Amino acid sequence: MTRLVLALDFGGTKLSAALFKRESSRQGSNERQEEQTLSSSWRPLPSSRPLREPLSTLLDLRRVITPADADAAYELATILALARELLAGRPPAAVGVSFGGPVAVAAGLVRRSDHVPGWDNFPLRDRLAAAFGCPVAVDNDANVAALGEHHFGAGHGFDDLIYVTVSTGVGGGWILGGRPWRGHEGLAGEIGHTVVDPHGPLCLCGKRGCVERLASGPYMAADYEQGSRGAGEQREEAPPRPSGEGTLIPSPWGGVRGVSEVGGEERPLPPGERTRITGRDVAERAAAGDEGARAILLRGAWALGVGLGNAANLINPQRVILGGGVTKAGEAWWAEVRRAAAATAVAGVTFDIVPAALGDDAPLWGALALAAEITR
Ligand SMILES: [Zn+2]
Repeated sequence: MTRLVLALDFGGTKLSAALFKRESSRQGSNERQEEQTLSSSWRPLPSSRPLREPLSTLLDLRRVITPADADAAYELATILALARELLAGRPPAAVGVSFGGPVAVAAGLVRRSDHVPGWDNFPLRDRLAAAFGCPVAVDNDANVAALGEHHFGAGHGFDDLIYVTVSTGVGGGWILGGRPWRGHEGLAGEIGHTVVDPHGPLCLCGKRGCVERLASGPYMAADYEQGSRGAGEQREEAPPRPSGEGTLIPSPWGGVRGVSEVGGEERPLPPGERTRITGRDVAERAAAGDEGARAILLRGAWALGVGLGNAANLINPQRVILGGGVTKAGEAWWAEVRRAAAATAVAGVTFDIVPAALGDDAPLWGALALAAEITR
């Protein structure tokens, strides 16, 4: 039995829709009955069995860049138009949706978007179910990417893993016992705002020394710019630091405190705020021998590694998968992430840290996996 599955991705900067053909070996009335039940409500994912990936085929893909002044109504109308183009009048069996922001999965509600206005408590699942007349599942992009990597990518065959994206922000999603683990409010996996340095620089979330504050591309770029401007600028007074500088994980490359104290970056930088350079520039300058850039890049890697090691101590995953633009920063970055994570993990907690396999299409493959979970 062949069915069409629609995968939608509301990303921070672009909207994507993909149409997949999914062959199913299951047939008959039980399946239809299951679909009818599910069309009106979400239920916990029924099984940990991996999908049979060879049975899913990408038929077509549409993608548009989101204009700077887009709102939720624009995004919804645009993605519906893309989807209808792909479907050409054919009904989908299910729709899976990756959304770049927090989602109340059980209620099918988008909580908000940090990039686009109008998404607050938006009933996206029900709006799409009404538009397409089929079951719809919506989850946030990190959870969806984790599911995609588990079924189709670097996490295939690993039932306990965390996927972390390191890009304009740092987000994560768990697969535990072969199933997505979303937590009580759907916020599990928020490794980006776990604190690795309580006396570190101020984060947008109001805390200091979060993984995201130190490891995300825009924050690294901002710190590099601040550091380049020199020590003469005014800055807010930072709180006193205890001896030992707040970390028990020594870093062999040094220079972290020097960097953060030179420029005084006590202003919390909103994600995506424009700087003249990007995280990629920091990585390129580090590779070219710029010591300031190298210190910032490796501080980010250290912060992420400590966060991962702490997470591993709590959950004991088999594998950590890293995606997002910052993971292209080079071998020195990867080596420091792995070193700091291993140094933070207690004896006996072992895991590997590998690059994501699905690349830019991860949300769409993940959305396919999400859709397949509600129609199997
Ligand atoms: Zn934070």
